Amino acid sequence: MELRDLSDHVEYRAGRGIEEVARELGRDPSDFVKLSSNENPHGPSPKAAVAIREAATEVHRYPKAVHADLTAALAEQWGVTDEQVWLANGGDGALDYLARATLDPDDEVLVPTPGFTYYGMSARFHHGRVSEYAVEEGGDGFEMTPEAVLDAYDGERVVYLTSPHNPTGARFTLDEVETVADETDEDTLVVVDEAYGEFADAPSAVSLLDERDDVAVLRTFSKAYGLAGTRLGYAVVPGSWGDAYARVQTPFAASVVACEAGLAALGDDEHVAKTTESVEWGREYIHDELDARTYESHGNFVLANVGDAASVTEAAKRDGVLIRDCTSFGLPEHVRVTVGTRAETDRAVDTLNEVLGE
Ligand code: PMP
Repeated sequence: MELRDLSDHVEYRAGRGIEEVARELGRDPSDFVKLSSNENPHGPSPKAAVAIREAATEVHRYPKAVHADLTAALAEQWGVTDEQVWLANGGDGALDYLARATLDPDDEVLVPTPGFTYYGMSARFHHGRVSEYAVEEGGDGFEMTPEAVLDAYDGERVVYLTSPHNPTGARFTLDEVETVADETDEDTLVVVDEAYGEFADAPSAVSLLDERDDVAVLRTFSKAYGLAGTRLGYAVVPGSWGDAYARVQTPFAASVVACEAGLAALGDDEHVAKTTESVEWGREYIHDELDARTYESHGNFVLANVGDAASVTEAAKRDGVLIRDCTSFGLPEHVRVTVGTRAETDRAVDTLNEVLGE
């Protein structure tokens, strides 16, 4: 039988793990540091780790369709109703729910390029079509502007804004998000992806939902909360959408283990503060110490122009440092380095400077 042609999607491969790379190179996994997937180098909150162990005895039961305690805690955090919080299997799962809620076959979406690949994949899974707006390098680094979005906009059903943006680290201000929402059709949903929001020191676009029903915000537990492996994210959607979640949700949208971990992690401000402080330090350190052009970042990573991303990434890998070659983002000269612990970040900078000096 013929399958759908989703060949564009083979470009997208989530970052490979240390074990896989170590096996390929015939080396010990402990030789490597992984700064290629924007994970939290400090691990999960200790409170979340306890919650995961406790949840272990409950996993013979299906989760509740909606984890009421976690939903309520998030609703309280954001000042919205429980119905406005759509828990999902990672931020990726939340993107799927938003696509399901909005896209009819052949509807178009507008995505940033370079940008996070899953927007386009999710839209295509839902039989949508993808067009692009440019995030371009200007004098001061990569520029994300409402003008660039609106120039490319042609009535698409969904517009994705990533703030902070992966992989450049740039961001939109709230005013800029509002401009896009104001200037696009009433029937266009603006999805503001704040997967890296905790690192940005800027207000969330959730505040816009008080007044608008054409903006939805994506958040995740994968980054600042250190729970990437549990797969937990959510969308905050407009109040007027009512009970739409019940209509789009895959049964049991997030696992018992993920939800208990998320609830515990939400109660551990100290761990989030430790993470965000170390990211602030690490971004500065990489800017100061790396002998390559770096760009201001509001995320937990720094983009750097190293000339030939593929060969630098490969040489760093052989030296035990895994970073992200941004060629698949359409940036063949750039690498993205996640801020690690001090020791990891130090090692990455040393390795890269050595490779760049060769
Ligand atoms: N948005 C952006 C911009 C991302 O970089 C990522 C993950 N790297 C996500 C969303 C989704 O993350 P997750 O599914 O782990 O929540």
